[in-house]
Amino acid sequence: MKMTVIGCGYLGATHAACMADLGHEVLGVDVDVDKVHTLNRGKAPFFEPGLDDLLTRHTTSGRLRFTTSSKEAADFADLHFIGVGTPHQPGTNQYDLSHLFSAVCHLAPHLKGPAVVTVKSTVPVGTAPHIADLLRERAPAGDAIEVAWNPEFLREGSALEDTLRPDRLVLGFRTAHSRAETMLRQAFRQVIEAGAPVIVTDWATAELAKGAANSFLATKISFINAMAEICEKSGASVTELADILSRDLRIGAHGMRPGLGFGGGCLPKDLRGFTTRAEELDAEQAVGILREADAVNVRRRHRVIDIAHEELNGNLRGERITVWGAAFKPGTDDIRDSPALAVAQALHDRGAIVTVSDPMALDNARKLHPDLAYDDDPIAALADTRLLLHLTEWPQFSHIDPRHLTGQALGLKVIDARGTLDAALWRSAGWLIRRLGHC
Ligand code: NAD
Repeated sequence: MKMTVIGCGYLGATHAACMADLGHEVLGVDVDVDKVHTLNRGKAPFFEPGLDDLLTRHTTSGRLRFTTSSKEAADFADLHFIGVGTPHQPGTNQYDLSHLFSAVCHLAPHLKGPAVVTVKSTVPVGTAPHIADLLRERAPAGDAIEVAWNPEFLREGSALEDTLRPDRLVLGFRTAHSRAETMLRQAFRQVIEAGAPVIVTDWATAELAKGAANSFLATKISFINAMAEICEKSGASVTELADILSRDLRIGAHGMRPGLGFGGGCLPKDLRGFTTRAEELDAEQAVGILREADAVNVRRRHRVIDIAHEELNGNLRGERITVWGAAFKPGTDDIRDSPALAVAQALHDRGAIVTVSDPMALDNARKLHPDLAYDDDPIAALADTRLLLHLTEWPQFSHIDPRHLTGQALGLKVIDARGTLDAALWRSAGWLIRRLGHC
């Protein structure tokens, strides 16, 4: 099949490359000229394991290319996926849908025949009818343009696997058994034949699916972090408590990892966007639990800053601190709402001299946090430091043998905010180790 993917960031570039890998002819569209050049050279403008290989293979084979032209997109195919960004409006927790409306408004005037416009971006419930109205008013083909909703559940760091072998495909339509459904089932034929369950539903349920899933996951992470707060006061072990809870099949292990909490471009944004939309719909009592999940998550960052204060005797001014981690989680170079960088910046703002190390995310971090110092080498970053903070759980950090570090750092104190350092080993190497949930 021929199809376009409009918006080629983390979601769109991955989706375009994976659809080409499934044998389709794909045209990616983005307003960012540099991004389009980079993608046409077979390179991803961000780090995602395996994506460069897929882009190179399919830009070379000719099955995949990228453009900035909406007209070219409309001429190329009659199936369009939209995956543009939906950040928050500045200073609010409401989604900014201007990129989505702009993408639709640029495409619409060129849609002269029947077509299916499938939105993958995460939106507040109630957006689909506006998109359908816009297309009906602005596309020459009018009512012949169908709108479908296909929320995306990929996780950065395993985005290819999640796209090619998703745990479910959600397809939302205005009416059942539409032409749009036939086309999407055909587009995802191999994915469906490989066993992905398909849930066909209405627009509103499909729109809610992503926000509800992220809100649930955020609540689960915040629940175990709230338990960590109780463990800190009671002397219990949050690691063992999490293990005990995880083995209950009704609860499960995913997300049951105490630590510095969640960040990134989706979970915090969707938790707040979902809450705000529910309030607009007069359902604010239903999302009280989500506001608390958000508050627990923010408290984790403050707790690390408080422990740093305690370990440096209440004075951060002029003290050297090393931070291991800049990405919001391992396996990505995405630093959007990164807990690690939020803590690093807060310590800098309180007068500390902070050096950050990360295997992948330093280029992005430098642009957003120019005040911080950076070092590619996590061991060199320890030079003369009084305190080490382990804030993103890259395996590269937990593989470092602390017995080889003596002499680098002045303080021999580490705060393990992710709980993945071998505490006994660090203690035996002479370090004082403090872990969230154990202090
Ligand atoms: P991103 O910022 O990485 O990418 C968005 C892209 O859209 C950018 O390349 C931007 O240049 C492009 N764009 C903006 N306006 C455009 C327009 N009018 N026409 C064409 N391109 C345009 O964002 P992302 O992380 O890929 O997220 C995109 C959407 O997918 C968001 O709604 C997000 O919540 C959702 N989502 C993201 C993930 C993820 O892991 N990143 C997972 C699931 C869902």
